[in-house]
This record gives sequence, C-alpha cells and structure tokens, in this order.
Amino acid sequence: MSHFKTLDDLGDVTGKVALLRVDLNLPMKDGSATDVTRVEAAKPTILELCDKGAKVLLLAHFGRPRGQRHSTMSTSFVQGDVEEVLGKEIMFIPEVMGPVVEQAVGILRDGDIGLLDNVRFWPGEEANDPDFARGIAAIGDFYVNDAFSAAHRAHATTEGLAHLLPAYAGRAMEAELKALDAALGNPEQPVAAVVGGAKVSTKLDVLQNLVGRVQHLIIGGGMANTFLAARGVDVGQSLCEHDLAGTARTIMDEADHAGCTVHLPYDVVVAQQFAANPPSLRTCNVHEVASNEMILDIGPQAVEALGDVLKTCRTLVWNGPLGAFETEPFDAATVALAKTAAALTQDGSLTSVAGGGDTVAALAHAGVKDDFTFVSTAGGAFLEWMEGKELPGVAALNS
Ligand code: ADP
Ligand code: MG
Repeated sequence: MSHFKTLDDLGDVTGKVALLRVDLNLPMKDGSATDVTRVEAAKPTILELCDKGAKVLLLAHFGRPRGQRHSTMSTSFVQGDVEEVLGKEIMFIPEVMGPVVEQAVGILRDGDIGLLDNVRFWPGEEANDPDFARGIAAIGDFYVNDAFSAAHRAHATTEGLAHLLPAYAGRAMEAELKALDAALGNPEQPVAAVVGGAKVSTKLDVLQNLVGRVQHLIIGGGMANTFLAARGVDVGQSLCEHDLAGTARTIMDEADHAGCTVHLPYDVVVAQQFAANPPSLRTCNVHEVASNEMILDIGPQAVEALGDVLKTCRTLVWNGPLGAFETEPFDAATVALAKTAAALTQDGSLTSVAGGGDTVAALAHAGVKDDFTFVSTAGGAFLEWMEGKELPGVAALNS
C-alpha cells in the first residue's frame, strides 16, 4: 500500500488557500453537462475543505485546448453545474496564477470556493513545466489531489504541485486508492480477474500483468475469440485478431507457469448478422461455430461455471464486458455474471472492483453498479493501474 496523506492529516487550515485538483471534464451538450458524476465525486472533498475554513481554489482541465486559450473550453462553462451539485455559489477566476488570482483570493472569505480557468490553456500544464507549477503553487498553502482519473498524467497540476506544497489525497482519491489496493495491490486470495471487451491488442499489458497476480483469469468478449482461435478453434466471422495468436499462446503459457487458470468459454452465443435478436441466433459449443457465424457473447454454461469460480474467490477485478452487451440478447452473460458478483459482494464473501468506460455502462445496465465494492469511472488511469504501472499523480502523493 502506498503511503499518502489524507484530509485527516490536515491541521488547522482556517484561512489557508487550498489548491484542489479535481476532474471537471464533464460531457456537455448545449452548454450544460449531461453527466455530473465527476462533480459528485469531488463534492465531499470540496465541502470538507470549506467546512475546515480553507479558501478552496479548484484546478481542472476541460477539453483539449493544447496550450492555448479557447473561448469554448473555459471552465466557466461548468461553473453552473458545479454550483448546482455543491449547492453553493463559487467565484470564477479567469486565470491560474498572478495578480488576478491574488486579488480574487483577497476577496474570498474562509470557506469560499474559487474556480480557476482551464489549466490546459497554458502549455506549462501538460509539459509539467516547473516554472508554471511554481507560479500556481505561489498562491496556495497546500495541495489536494482528488482527480484519480488524471493521475496517469504527469502534468503540473496532477504531479508537479505535489512536490512544491504539502500534498494530500482528497476523499475520492483516497477511496479509489484503497479500493484498487484491496483488489490487486494487497488482495485477499484467491483473486479472479475478468477481462473482456473488444480486442486483445488494447489490453495486452493488462493480461500480462494479471497472469502473475491472480489465480483465475476469465477471458470473455471479442478477446476470447482470439484466445480460442489461438487454441485452434474455428471462430468463423467473429471479431478476432488472428495475428495475435502467438501472443495469446504466450500469455496462456505464462499463466500456466504462474499457477493462474485461464478460463475460456466452452459454449457461445452466435449469429450470422450483428443485430438485436437476429433470426440466426443460437447457442452452441465453441467447436460448432459455422464459418458464416460470429460469436457475440459467451454461453450460459460458461456463465454458470464462471459463477462457481467466483464463489471460490475472495476478490474480483473486472474490466471489459463478456459480449456485445449494447445489443440484445448479447448482454446476457455480462448481466448474469455481474449479478452473481454483486450478490456475492452483498453476502460479504467477495470484494469486487470494476472499471472501464463500457464496463461501467454494462454494470449500470445490469443494475448492479452500486452493489460492487467499488466501480471506478477513471477510464485511462484505471487501465494503466490494471497494467501494473505506477501512476505519476499517485506516486507524487507518496511521502
Ligand atoms: P472497456 O471500455 O470497459 O474497457 P472495451 O472498450 O475494451 O471495454 O470493450 C467494450 C466493447 O467490446 C463493447 O462495445 C462490446 O460491444 C465489445 N464486445 C464485447 N464482446 C464482443 C464480441 N464478442 N464481438 C464484438 N464486440 C464485442
Ligand atoms: Mg471502451
């Protein structure tokens, strides 16, 4: 477990200026946010700092302005959404350092919130320029990072600031790091990993990292087709990366040596066309896929067997749906195994951690998002963590 300071380690911060990195990169439509999950996630940290009497300056990026001011990418566009979630007025400050910010800080009362402009308007942010970071650090007394989703980037406000000021993990960051540690850092064994999704090529590093760390590697989705093909199964028209057969075999060998059981489906759901409830829909053994069919989900027998595997495990980490879950009935396996995992979690026998853009959507579709121990919405940072990489934003918080 990494050692980082949390808000519990803050002394008296009355009147002190907190530089708080949050994720406000909200999906927008017609000038307002379509999803405020990220603000909800940062809310406890923001309000706790306010309650402690700090003047809270929010630092965030918004879109990809590439080091230039962009009228459409100012953080002022999310000010209203942030105010609504917090139930509190905030002051927009159209800079990140210098006299304008100093003046604003002079106006803010203890417990007030200022929203600085898009940190990526300045090239020093993504370049992690020490002068840029020092300029921001000059206005604050301490730094809090609550943006795990940006922790895989070594940018000035995600990494640089942590070296210049006393640095703390915010509550959302703290919860994320604890959950990830419980899932892969220091998990209760046996551990199962579900890796699904479309392509092996996007998750090679994930697979390679997991084979050395988990007892059961469950492979589903389009990725399973590549593994099946590598074992000599004819997968017909399925999404399959035939050129990665060698890589898939290497991963299976590595798993063998590490004592990790690789689970591939033995029955699958196939169709001749990719559409909702197609007439050609059928379930068959993996060895019975016709040359004009494609595998779009793993089969019910496989799901039942995988449920039995989960019952023997104490920890589950899950990235990637088991089938083309956006189209019925190819969501069946994902929904069924997600429900089993959720029930085991609620019974207290399983710690379950999941992440990935489509995975979060699939768990929400299954209605079990809140029944897992932790569901990460961090996207890229979550995947890099599954790859076993050290995240610069997290490493910088470690003291
Ligand atoms: P995540 O975003 O959770 O990391 P991915 O992006 O890797 O997940 O994969 C999700 C996609 O994989 C979904 O769009 C899903 O439709 C697709 N997929 C899963 N199984 C199959 C399959 N058998 N054939 C084609 N696509 C599949
Ligand atoms: Mg995806």
